[in-house]
Amino acid sequence: MIIWKNLTAEQQQALLDRPAIANNEQLSKQVADILSQVKEQGDQALFSLTEKFDGIALSSLQVTQTQVEQAKKALSTERLAAINTAYEQIKSFHQAQQPQDVVVETRPGVICALTSQAIESVGLYIPAGSAPLPSTVLMLGVPAQLANCDRKVLVCPPDQNGKLANEVLVAADLCNIDEIYTLGGAQAIAALAYGSQTIKPVCKVFGPGNRFVTEAKKQLSQQVPGFAIDMPAGPSEVLVIADSNSKPAFIAADLLSQAEHGPDSQVVLVSESESLITEVEQALAQQLAQLSRRDIAQQALTQSRLILTDNLTTAVQVSNQYAPEHLIIQTKDPKAQLTQIRNAGSVFLGAYTPESAGDYASGTNHVLPTYGYSKVCSSLSLADFYRRFTVQEITKAGLASLAPCITELTDAEGLDGHKRAVTIRLEQQATQEQTA
Ligand code: NAD
Repeated sequence: MIIWKNLTAEQQQALLDRPAIANNEQLSKQVADILSQVKEQGDQALFSLTEKFDGIALSSLQVTQTQVEQAKKALSTERLAAINTAYEQIKSFHQAQQPQDVVVETRPGVICALTSQAIESVGLYIPAGSAPLPSTVLMLGVPAQLANCDRKVLVCPPDQNGKLANEVLVAADLCNIDEIYTLGGAQAIAALAYGSQTIKPVCKVFGPGNRFVTEAKKQLSQQVPGFAIDMPAGPSEVLVIADSNSKPAFIAADLLSQAEHGPDSQVVLVSESESLITEVEQALAQQLAQLSRRDIAQQALTQSRLILTDNLTTAVQVSNQYAPEHLIIQTKDPKAQLTQIRNAGSVFLGAYTPESAGDYASGTNHVLPTYGYSKVCSSLSLADFYRRFTVQEITKAGLASLAPCITELTDAEGLDGHKRAVTIRLEQQATQEQTA
């Protein structure tokens, strides 16, 4: 347990630093090498890198419709029903986010509009290194489908038999994904950015992934003109704010549900109650022993932080400074703390709102900014699958009324050409009026 007030400001900041950021230079070189191999050798590099990092020699990259049909038959009725329910829940929340055009007559005869168009081609990265995530297929596939993107491409690393999980294929089919490739890691992101003999490039790539995937997204978005990424969504993290009313067993379960994602996941508990923290520590030890992925969770717990603050106001300040991906507020009156929350990817209120609900089926998106980017980035939403552009139309009278403002400012900037584009129209109008 760490007592917050006993730390200096520097120590407090160091405590909240993300573990996964370490060793960035080596990672950056390693990923740059993978990207250049894909750029130069296309499919050949995709096959050899898959063999190297996923341990499987594939004979083809693309998944066929027959394989998708077989996946549907292989799943139990219960599993299919669960995927369908989650799909409907996520659809319901995202459907309500459809962008609305904005039209404003900013002065008589000057009409300005803001409109949206779906991004034409999107790449959806589905992590599967430590576990395949069909839930992520729905989180990316549903908004891509609702936005009506022309081309929806899904990539996911193969299992040890060179296959994708049946659940991943079934979820992809529900979302009308157009192309599915058995490909993961930095090489998959490179294929989506550069293209290869088999895979045509896309305009924007979405999805979480490990540090190789996240670094590849970062490098390619800076290198490839017009290639965009959703956000830096890396190793998962959760911060729980709790008081003496919280249930230690629930909190331990929430912390472990994050810790089991990967060894580089981070879990943080901030509480004003010392006895609560002690009880959570005990519950963690008990519940960890029962987890099938306890080795992974155990490693992640070595990066965990159990922080004691003087009161809940300070606990909220710690949370705002950390800017967690997931924030669970399990206190007597969680809405009271919510009003002070500034930075979080997704917030879960009350004892009966586990993060798992948002991870799978409540309806919100589970692709969220990590590494403290929730200070500036938002949870994935339908808007991310659109780009907006403005449209304007001005009448002669509208331009005449705006002209003094424009020409004064063009004079200030010394841009005669800009001024002329306005005055030429007004002079022509004046001449026509004199002739008439
Ligand atoms: P992944 O699919 O992201 O990565 C697996 C791939 O990494 C493999 O296919 C392999 O090609 C590549 N790889 C493995 N070792 C490598 C090496 N040494 N060098 C180069 N490439 C290598 O799957 P994962 O590893 O399970 O990671 C998933 C991550 O996504 C986790 O960290 C999890 O916490 C995170 N996640 C984040 C969110 C979010 O919204 N932020 C949501 C779900 C999952």
